[in-house]
Amino acid sequence: MSLKKSKVLDVVVVGTGMAGLNFIDKYLEKKSKVHVISPTFVKNLNLHTNQTKILPSQMRGEHNKIYNYFNANNLKIISNCKAIGSLNFGGLTNYWGLQMDNYFENNQPDLSKKTFKDIKSNLFSFLKRYNLLGTFKNTNRQIYQNDFNIPSQFTNLEKKPQEFICNKPILGFMTSKKFSGNLNAIKEESQKLNAKNLFKKLDKKRKIAFHDFFLKDIKKKNNLIELTCKKDDQEKKFLVKKLVLATGTIATTKIIMDFLKIKKEVKIKHHPRLLSVFLSRKKLDYNLNFTPSLFQFRSKLNKDKFTADIRPGNKLITESIIDAFPFMRPFKMVINFFRKRLIFSNFLYDSSLSNLYLKKTNDKFHLYSKDKKIDRTLRKKNKAVFNFLKKKGIIFPIYKTFFPGNGADYHYFGSIPFQKRGKLGLNNKCQLLAEKKIYIIDGSAFNFRTNKYPLGIVAANARRVARYLSR
Ligand SMILES: Cc1cc2nc3c(=O)[nH]c(=O)nc-3n(C[C@H](O)[C@H](O)[C@H](O)COP(=O)(O)OP(=O)(O)OC[C@H]3O[C@@H](n4cnc5c(N)ncnc54)[C@H](O)[C@@H]3O)c2cc1C
Repeated sequence: MSLKKSKVLDVVVVGTGMAGLNFIDKYLEKKSKVHVISPTFVKNLNLHTNQTKILPSQMRGEHNKIYNYFNANNLKIISNCKAIGSLNFGGLTNYWGLQMDNYFENNQPDLSKKTFKDIKSNLFSFLKRYNLLGTFKNTNRQIYQNDFNIPSQFTNLEKKPQEFICNKPILGFMTSKKFSGNLNAIKEESQKLNAKNLFKKLDKKRKIAFHDFFLKDIKKKNNLIELTCKKDDQEKKFLVKKLVLATGTIATTKIIMDFLKIKKEVKIKHHPRLLSVFLSRKKLDYNLNFTPSLFQFRSKLNKDKFTADIRPGNKLITESIIDAFPFMRPFKMVINFFRKRLIFSNFLYDSSLSNLYLKKTNDKFHLYSKDKKIDRTLRKKNKAVFNFLKKKGIIFPIYKTFFPGNGADYHYFGSIPFQKRGKLGLNNKCQLLAEKKIYIIDGSAFNFRTNKYPLGIVAANARRVARYLSR
């Protein structure tokens, strides 16, 4: 094994997902250089065969990246847990299908009013920076508009007050000029908001020093943080003054638990998900390979914080159905024929039903779920959405639901929240309470109870932290 010498660096960012790249984008407005640790490729080590076999439509065929993610992060996944970890591992992600909330509600008492306001204003600058599709209101004043059309049966719901809060999400598509009209006009490959396309938009690429390693662990050394990084059989150490962790909630939590020697189990919050398929009375004429969700229904009840979204059928979902149920292959043409009559829905429930845990046992981190039956609760609550769509004459009175398993919602957060005391907590600057040289800018900080599509908020917060670190 070759061992390289340590260097002392000022600020190092780890991870190049939406959080990492948004941090870099904002940081380089004022600073002349940033160091980034981001692995391009890690070879497969031991594959865990009990990992989820069916991947989300956007990630079909990407099993290797998921195995690499678990292996590199020394994580073992236990059978009843269907988490997949990072959106991508190795290189800049090419996945998409992102819808984001166009609102932000503060469900955390220790997130100060000022910080909350600051994140909101950074959400606005994030939307503007990439000309994303959608609208955004701040205290009822519309401050951002780059709108897209939705089918008329949903437009009507949006206009009048209903038993649900009905609105369009922000979509992860970047536009170069003001957009209005049908989503079919979008060029999916080049316009989707993913790390690869976002990176192309960075005009200060020369100021980024990439280090092609993954972060194995961190230690305190004198007054600095020492990072031990790996790539195949190479190991490299960095000494840093400020470490910015953007490795996604699960990897970040594991790195911090290791650093603080936390032996007890830590809860990873998420939004338990139920999938539904409805039969639409009217055709939904969308030709994209992966049409994002067009509409959200949010419960108004305080004790029942759920969101259901609505997405027209598309070719990639058809492929995923065949992956999940291979006996359906002969019916592929039939499914594609009916595709425009199918409405798919994600029903995402409050983080109070979270069932994902991380614990270190015998030098390995285990990611697991407990034996808790939550699918019945989800089905019961989801029925309100079916009844609503039926009552409004949008669907025929039949539907089918599918519970994809614990953690198969892919929104992981809230393990190192904003709080005033405790080891696993952050102050409002996103500094780890136990070590102020470490900044955590991914979903770990937030308990997204009301917000169900948190990506924009995570990106906005990363931009906020970059702003004061670059001062
Ligand atoms: C299929 C799918 C669909 C989703 N759809 C939506 C959606 O529609 N709306 C929404 O709001 N959210 C969605 N999410 C969740 C969303 O992707 C995450 O909230 C978001 O990716 C978080 O961004 P991040 O930058 O914090 O983490 P990530 O995107 O997970 O990025 C983590 C980065 O860290 C790197 N990394 C990991 N471990 C290490 C290590 N040890 N060393 C170095 N680098 C490391 C990875 O390579 C990656 O670059 C979806 C997730 C999935 C999987």
